[in-house]
Amino acid sequence: MKKTSISRRGFIGRVSLGAAIMAANPFDLFAGARAQGRQLGIALVGLGKYSTGQLGPALKQTTLCKLAGVVTGSREKGEQWAKDYGFPVQHIYSYDTMHQLADNPDIDIVYVVTPNGLHATHAIAAAKAGKHVICEKPMARTVAECDSIISACRAAKVKLSIGYRLHFDPYHKELMRLAKEKDFGAFTKMTGDRGFIMSNKPWRADKKLAGGGPIMDLGVYIIHGACMAADGATPLWVTASEHPKTHPEIFSDVEEGMNWTMEFPGGAVCTAQTSYQHSADRFRAEGDKGWIEFKEHAFTYRGMVVDTSRGPLNFTPPNQQALQMDHFADCILSNKETPVPGELGRRDLAIIEAIYKAAATGGRVAVQA
Ligand code: NAD
Repeated sequence: MKKTSISRRGFIGRVSLGAAIMAANPFDLFAGARAQGRQLGIALVGLGKYSTGQLGPALKQTTLCKLAGVVTGSREKGEQWAKDYGFPVQHIYSYDTMHQLADNPDIDIVYVVTPNGLHATHAIAAAKAGKHVICEKPMARTVAECDSIISACRAAKVKLSIGYRLHFDPYHKELMRLAKEKDFGAFTKMTGDRGFIMSNKPWRADKKLAGGGPIMDLGVYIIHGACMAADGATPLWVTASEHPKTHPEIFSDVEEGMNWTMEFPGGAVCTAQTSYQHSADRFRAEGDKGWIEFKEHAFTYRGMVVDTSRGPLNFTPPNQQALQMDHFADCILSNKETPVPGELGRRDLAIIEAIYKAAATGGRVAVQA
């Protein structure tokens, strides 16, 4: 049984030591950044469930960054956040005043947490204001929108990362390690299922705001996980079929569910499904010498149950979001590349576009990544 080397308590313990000691400590994750002696300011754009339930609380645990402002449609909500997180009310912006972020030196990073269909607009506004950008998954509705975000960040010379928090989770890091070091042989067979039951029609079932149905919101996790299991490879081909609509009143312009396959270079195949009409959160990867199975909460924040052909894994779950945001702050402070750049978000949208095309045509479609 394996124990993680980056438990949250250990992490906090390490980062609270003096800067001089830390600079010489090879286990300090952010020694270079700390030497600069400043926490970067983050502004959250969109104060919905993910910001309120996860990102805000995580920003109380971060070391290299803190919540310094918000962009919201509700002034009242913004004032409550200013009180709860201790930033000045002058740091509350509306979606229409985002350009004024350019005049705020206390905000270094803008984190876009609005519905998918607004990611491009808000990420581009942030880049134009000269701020580094974190954009939630899925990066946008289309590859073309991803390209416009990447171009805007390049033009503004700001860094761009995607909210792929699982890259900072020990179980998923173990999946990536196994894929790289091939302890179980190369993974050749992957399976995944991710869904929840949607009983009303929120923005997630509105094509304009969501870009599509569960493949956008949930399927993207399996797509991303399968690419991790394929050691970072992009699938060459996909096939797909939409689930029959049992609730056409909700899913009038997006799919209710999707079955799909992805064929990777070298012959590995992932068979997956996603749905807004059943509950599931599972993923499995098999090689000729062993397997790893994410049996429960495969892609969520806590409660992961992960077994392997060598026995169960038992890592201490960290705060994925705090690690993700601290890592991006470190990339900015130390001028390093993020492991979750815009290009990864774009790759996943290219796969999703191929899946929609395959479902529409019934054919085997090449991924144009
Ligand atoms: P949510 O509906 O709870 O919040 C969305 C926010 O955007 C709200 O504050 C809403 O007021 C605001 N908004 C601005 N313009 C809007 C408009 N025209 N229509 C609707 N809302 C508008 O959604 P959420 O669950 O917080 O998701 C937000 C984003 O975060 C999505 O892209 C989602 O995929 C992503 N997300 C990521 C994770 C993760 O684990 N990485 C988890 C949840 C959500």
